[in-house]
Amino acid sequence: MSRGLTQNGKPATQSDLAELVTDTMTPAPTPSSVAIVVVAAGRGSRAGEGLPKQYRTLAGEPIITHALRALHAGAPQARMLVTIHPDDRALYDAAVARLNPAAQQALLEPVAGGATRQASVKAGLEALAGVAPDLVLIHDCARPFASPALIARAIAAAQTHGAAVPGLAVTDTIKQVDAGGRIESTPPRASLRAVQTPQAFRYALIATAHKLAASTGQMELTDDGAVAEWAGHAVHVFEGDAANMKVTNPEDFAAAEARMMGQLLDIRTGQGFDVHAFTEGDQIWLGGVSIPHTRGLLGHSDADVLMHAVTDAIYGALADGDIGAHFPPSDPQWKGAPSDIFLRHAAQRVRERGGMIAHVDGTVICEAPKVGPHRDAIRAKLAQIMGVDVSRVAVKATTSEQLGFTGRREGVAAMALATVRLPS
Ligand code: MG
Repeated sequence: MSRGLTQNGKPATQSDLAELVTDTMTPAPTPSSVAIVVVAAGRGSRAGEGLPKQYRTLAGEPIITHALRALHAGAPQARMLVTIHPDDRALYDAAVARLNPAAQQALLEPVAGGATRQASVKAGLEALAGVAPDLVLIHDCARPFASPALIARAIAAAQTHGAAVPGLAVTDTIKQVDAGGRIESTPPRASLRAVQTPQAFRYALIATAHKLAASTGQMELTDDGAVAEWAGHAVHVFEGDAANMKVTNPEDFAAAEARMMGQLLDIRTGQGFDVHAFTEGDQIWLGGVSIPHTRGLLGHSDADVLMHAVTDAIYGALADGDIGAHFPPSDPQWKGAPSDIFLRHAAQRVRERGGMIAHVDGTVICEAPKVGPHRDAIRAKLAQIMGVDVSRVAVKATTSEQLGFTGRREGVAAMALATVRLPS
């Protein structure tokens, strides 16, 4: 029996009737399927740090991670395909591993870009042939601030016009100059637009235009709007977004970092505390590092007392329970589990909230073993697990002057503070 029908096939109530009428008489219009090509094949490292700029970090995350997260937030139903340089596969994998599972699932296998931006987009569009979306957005990964409103305007404009680009009125007067720097003309400012991405098209239109341009050797068109124009299509401009800046030069990085941090002003501190007792053994785990010792530590998991304190500090900053709530000790699957599972989960919870771990500070309390010689290895390991720079991780050690249970060498205690920045 269908929902809302009585046994004799009649609608059970007036509201069931209304729902049935709505279901059958006026089906919701099928939304156009949308895919997004993200161009990230460039190897420009103009902005420094020796990495291609899309893999440099802003507020602790690679630019490409920010860009993909923003696109997925604006168009959660869209498949995303990134064109990358083949040498950058490991960087790409690390960057997308930071996305939440839904965003990762929206990603198609990346494809190798070409020698020019235009060739890279063409490769991306060809790789979408199997998906055959109605619409495609084409976005430069160096723009990490595409807002949901901008993405919605892009989709609507592509639906209406077939080919559309986001543009902003220019406030500077623009001059056309010759090779010697002499001004040839001053185009009227009112008719000029500075154009951004995502640019938006009917998939078949732009895929065909790119194919045609490539087959005629027309490979120096600087944006996809120009490819569509070249192929004879009318291309419309929709309202861009001044915040949707392109990060290219070192000054852009500084401005983008400030903008990103300016969005993360809900600053919270959490604390964590943990104790594990010594038992038989010849090593203990501290912050993911195995330290040889005359005893081991007793625990349901690997008894990594420092990692447990750090993990709880992060959950504390999020007001998001504690390790026991997320990984109940009653559940046998966590028996002997390596504690990096817990810390990875806590760090992922921060990222899923759009936040960052600003700082973690851990203190180990024991008479032995000595922690100092392992401090930097522990910092590096914790930083790697959390996906933050090692400069944001402090590890300290102290004794309790032979007082109390740590002083009697009965076990190890650890305390931690975590500072987390969330979107305000
Ligand atoms: Mg513990």
